[in-house]
Amino acid sequence: MSYDSDNIFAKILREEIPCIKVYEDDSTLAFMDIMPQANGHTLVIPKEPAVDLLELTDAAAADLILKVKKVARAVKQGLQAEAITIFQLNGAAAGQTVPHIHFHVLPGSIVEAKRHASISADAEVLASYAEKIKSAL
Ligand code: 5GP
Repeated sequence: MSYDSDNIFAKILREEIPCIKVYEDDSTLAFMDIMPQANGHTLVIPKEPAVDLLELTDAAAADLILKVKKVARAVKQGLQAEAITIFQLNGAAAGQTVPHIHFHVLPGSIVEAKRHASISADAEVLASYAEKIKSAL
C-alpha cells in the first residue's frame, strides 16, 4: 500500500490538526490517543512516512523502538501503572485504522481494555494524563 500523505497522523505531524503531545524529537512524536482504550493510552509515531512497520526503514524502526521504550517508561511511572501493554497493527485486516505506522502504549492489560478506536475522551481529561506522563519523561 502506498503512503497517503493526507492520513490523520501525517496531518498531525504537519500541525494541520492538533494533538495532545507528550514527547517530540527530530524523528518521533508521541501524543494521547483521542479514543483511549485505557486512561493514559499514548501513541508513538515516527516522522518518517511509512504505512506500517514492514515499510519503515530499519534505521527508523530501530530508533522508534527506543522511543517507544522511553515513552512506555514514562507512562508506567507517570500514571503509576502496574503494567504496560504495547501493540502495533499492520494492515486494515489486522485492525489498523490509521495508515501511518504507530505503536500503542497502554497502561494495564489489553484484556481489560475498552474497544479499539471507539469512544472519544474529553480533551481536558487527556491533557491531565499527558501532564503526568510528561512529568516522568
Ligand atoms: P490503529 O487502529 O491504526 O492501530 O490505531 C489508530 C489509533 O489512532 C486509534 O487508537 C484511534 O483511537 C486513534 N486516533 C484516530 N484518530 C485520531 C486523531 O485524530 N487523533 C488522535 N490523537 N488519535 C486518533
